[in-house]
Amino acid sequence: MTPAAPRVLTILGATGSIGVNTVAVAQALGVRVHAVSAHRKVDELARIAVAGQASVAVIADESLLPQLRRALSGSAVQAQAGPEALCAISSCPQVDTVMTAIVGAAGLPATLAAVRAGKRVCIANKEPLVMAGELIVREAASSGAELLPVDSEHSAIFQCLEHHHAEEVAQLVLTASGGPFRQVLDLSQVTREQALKHPTWSMGPKITIDSATLMNKSLEIIEARWLFGIAAERIRVLIHPQSVIHSMVTYRDGSVMAQLGRPDMRVPIQYSLTYPRHAPGPVQPPDFASLGALTFEEPDLARFPSLRMGFHAATAGGLLPTIMNAANEMAVADYLAGHGRFIDIFQVIERALAQAPRVAAPRLDEILAADTDTRAQLSMR
Ligand code: NAD
Ligand code: MG
Repeated sequence: MTPAAPRVLTILGATGSIGVNTVAVAQALGVRVHAVSAHRKVDELARIAVAGQASVAVIADESLLPQLRRALSGSAVQAQAGPEALCAISSCPQVDTVMTAIVGAAGLPATLAAVRAGKRVCIANKEPLVMAGELIVREAASSGAELLPVDSEHSAIFQCLEHHHAEEVAQLVLTASGGPFRQVLDLSQVTREQALKHPTWSMGPKITIDSATLMNKSLEIIEARWLFGIAAERIRVLIHPQSVIHSMVTYRDGSVMAQLGRPDMRVPIQYSLTYPRHAPGPVQPPDFASLGALTFEEPDLARFPSLRMGFHAATAGGLLPTIMNAANEMAVADYLAGHGRFIDIFQVIERALAQAPRVAAPRLDEILAADTDTRAQLSMR
């Protein structure tokens, strides 16, 4: 068997939860890291870049470039800053693979740059696909870029779909742990501390809140719709509290394929780098005998209206996914900053969606404008 091709990697968002895991996986696989980026954590970025023997480190916040230069003085790592530098390390000829682990819409330009440059794009950062999935998939088809899902559900579906065609598929079944409030009947009383305590996964703060509201699953419906070219009407969400089955594909003959594993992001991160091979790794398979039962429930759309909004945005398309995403990012940032109640997040998104203009197949400039306008309207309140 031939080993997976050696790869040279850019890691966008290297200081985050996915980023740090990617650094570790790359090191264990012997994958060379050419460039790393972070938003504002200068010292952490410098430490990762030097330890990983990267050639370039990019700090997204340009005002921090002098600080990054100081932190990297005496090392061989070149300091760069700003959005253009993020696009440059995503498209430069020195790399063949880009891990997109920035959180939120901020990752869209660099994701597109990597796609347009025909890289293998390992997509953790789901928000760009939510906003501009149709465009990203189209650009990938013309540049020859490979889109490799990192989100555990999408990595699972990707594996269950291998060697099959979309027309054979009856449904994609996205599993969801249900988050910390799966059994909490009154969401008006829950605390920030409870919302930040995910029962099965350890992740960055924004996606942890998204998992508590189930907005994460709404984003994932749209992510799956574009990654796999399956209409939203054929995507289903199923609550599976143990997070062992990462997602499933049901076929038209009644056969069901599922991918299972421990809830550990190093597995899908590694597979996005080693695809089409499964390489040796640090994570053990689940111990089924000690797991006992795997259970499943229908999601509660009354308690979690976010999921209803997600299906609506996924089906309607146009600018609705962008507006839903922008409103969610604003509402979650506000909530994480200590303002408002958990259930206010639902109301903010609901109001933004109610005012959304209908635009079929929006262009990139229209998508970016809708993102900016939604944020501007919400910050004026
Ligand atoms: P995180 O908050 O831990 O890390 C985010 C990274 O992005 C950091 O390196 C940060 O410096 C960088 N960043 C933040 N804002 C930025 C900006 N404006 N410009 C440039 N860089 C910026 O987040 P995470 O949990 O690692 O998640 C990253 C992405 O992966 C998200 O889109 C999330 O939905 C997705 N994802 C995460 C997990 C997980 O287990 N953490 C699982 C599936 C998908
Ligand atoms: Mg996921």
